[in-house]
Amino acid sequence: MLKKKWGQHLLVSSGVLDRLVELAEIKEEVVVEIGPGTGNLTKRLLNTPLKRLYLLEIDPEMVEKLKVSLNDPRVVIFQTDATTFDFNTLNEKELKLIGNLPYNVASLIIENTIYHKHLIYQAFYMVQKEVAERLIQQKSWLSVFVNTFYQLEYLMSIPPRFFVPPPKVNSAYLKFTRKNFDEIKDLKRYKSFLVQIFSQKRKMLKHKVPPEILEKASILPQKRVEELNLLDFITLYQIWVQ
Ligand code: SAH
Repeated sequence: MLKKKWGQHLLVSSGVLDRLVELAEIKEEVVVEIGPGTGNLTKRLLNTPLKRLYLLEIDPEMVEKLKVSLNDPRVVIFQTDATTFDFNTLNEKELKLIGNLPYNVASLIIENTIYHKHLIYQAFYMVQKEVAERLIQQKSWLSVFVNTFYQLEYLMSIPPRFFVPPPKVNSAYLKFTRKNFDEIKDLKRYKSFLVQIFSQKRKMLKHKVPPEILEKASILPQKRVEELNLLDFITLYQIWVQ
């Protein structure tokens, strides 16, 4: 039985599944799959030279089935919530993440990925196409948060017919590659700055940011948040927290 509350839409096209794994260019490395479900993607991942594969799955029924159907010594299964999972507990140095994400909590999983950026150097996520586009266009606090630390690439679109049951929306496969940028240390504080500056988007910045900060950052006070570029956000934040 597939459960709607956990966003269970299984990918069933072997062509697409092969392509997703191929695009992830998996070497002899440690991989984490989020939401393995019935293991369609998992089985293909096990055909790569990966060293270890951690599976994070919230549904206990799926977990039981996976335990029976996968008998590869490289696999470690956790019944857990990937939106709050602490990747430090794995005791690994470098992780590659992959997953056909549950769309209702995809944003939370992406946010949790950023909190573990010291471990996660790359991620390959299937998300709702509209979410993918908004992330790339930097139209929300989350998209700026992501783009600050990861290079985003739109790899491919996948229509609903390749899933069972087919979702109501189109999907997109995204590649996140960590940037060599380590100047912002306090991620929670950076997040609250972004959330604040993105609230009431139509308001001019002068109503949200003290004038001397805008001046120091050389940003015109009548600008709106959507007119800022990535460097503007980073500069503003750094002047603000000084
Ligand atoms: N990867 C599979 C299934 C994708 S559907 C495939 O491509 O066929 C999304 C999967 O994520 C489901 O198995 C669902 O149970 C699981 N899931 C939903 N919410 C989750 C969460 N918070 N943490 C971990 N897994 C979750």
